[in-house]
Amino acid sequence: MRRMKIIVTKFGGSSVADNIQIDKVKDIITSDKRRKYVVVSAPGKRSENDIKITDTLYTCKRNIEENLPFEQIFQIVVDRFTEIQKKLGTDVDFDKEFSIILENMKKGACQDYVASRGEYLNGKMIARYIGYDFIDAAKVIKFDEKGRFLEEKTDKALKRELSKHEYALIPGFYGSKPDGSIKTFSRGGSDVTGALVARASEASVYENWTDVSGFLMADPRIVKDPKPIESLTFQELRELSYMGASVLHEDAIYPAKIAGIPINIRNTNRPQDKGTIITAEPGKRSKERIITGIAGSKDFTVIAIYKNMLSTERGFIRKLAGIMEDYDIPLEHLPSGIDTVSAVISNKAINDRLGELVDEIKQQLHPDSIDVFDDIALIATVGLGMAARQGVSAKLFGALAGANVNVRMIDQGSSEMNIIVGVNNKDFKTAIRAIYEAFENQ
Ligand code: ASP
Repeated sequence: MRRMKIIVTKFGGSSVADNIQIDKVKDIITSDKRRKYVVVSAPGKRSENDIKITDTLYTCKRNIEENLPFEQIFQIVVDRFTEIQKKLGTDVDFDKEFSIILENMKKGACQDYVASRGEYLNGKMIARYIGYDFIDAAKVIKFDEKGRFLEEKTDKALKRELSKHEYALIPGFYGSKPDGSIKTFSRGGSDVTGALVARASEASVYENWTDVSGFLMADPRIVKDPKPIESLTFQELRELSYMGASVLHEDAIYPAKIAGIPINIRNTNRPQDKGTIITAEPGKRSKERIITGIAGSKDFTVIAIYKNMLSTERGFIRKLAGIMEDYDIPLEHLPSGIDTVSAVISNKAINDRLGELVDEIKQQLHPDSIDVFDDIALIATVGLGMAARQGVSAKLFGALAGANVNVRMIDQGSSEMNIIVGVNNKDFKTAIRAIYEAFENQ
């Protein structure tokens, strides 16, 4: 007999923010028996100005460190869980759990322990509510003593534990080090836990339930009603998220990708929507369309360096990269011409050291001249369909010219699946709208 396919579902903070949302989660899980393993975040925002439980917990820990009162802040967490539990009618012994956490906090428990309690408590309660076994993530998500994630060890531990449970819930975001202390992934890390569970259980799909119906072709705050992206590849997703499109934690991609498990972004508030499906290989639709999406970020600096015969000088790029390394500034892009090269770096990474950095470049590289533009926005137009198709850049640059946007820099990835343009910060939105309109109907 063939084993029933497993679907792993992960629900983000807004999907589990209160009892009404948790009811929707229960409906989604129980509507398909294949949804055997569930990963949840801590309760997130119930409205725009609400505060996530995880943020409240971080504040709690900060207060403890600064010798400020923290009990009142922890009470916010207590009240929120107590209220949800009351409305759901579950019977987790929260009094006991809260007093253990308080006790540990007083004894100086680490920040990651405190931050992880939102997922832990929520996981216990929701597991009870949906009738699933609870697996403490500390038991199955492994880090080494230095806090580095242990991929294979985790996979083994997860496989072993999951094989004992037909239906189980695992809280997201955290795991443990060899001494048993808690370690979390970076913020938004429940997505990573979900991907790991999907890999270990050889799921047929990893459903990531959030509050949007997947990826859109452009940021809806910039473009009115952008079209949804029905499907895209992991590679396209990487390009889009690098440039600022954020729906999924970046580290969630790898485990799903190596295991060949598609990720389906779904909307808890609109389960009827198909969402976006992310796969390793391009589907039919991905090949037909030209561009998949447009994403961008503001506030980059371009340091354009000119030097006669630069292209034949040995070690020039190495020295430039070395300076950036010394300053701990990631080189985002490095477009080059015959006797020019431009270092594109983020303003955040420069952090007021621009003058110093330019002096260092002058001293070490002796350029003929340097131009610095510190208000550059980068916009990536991404799509597998662009490769080997003529006229795409003509259309893109035509659209930018038509919108009176001056292009300050161009970089095309060697895979031919993206074109990155640098424009002035002030032209950021105009440029995105112009590109979107040019390709909206492909
Ligand atoms: N609760 C954690 C955060 O707010 C992790 C997550 O939700 O994925 O970052």
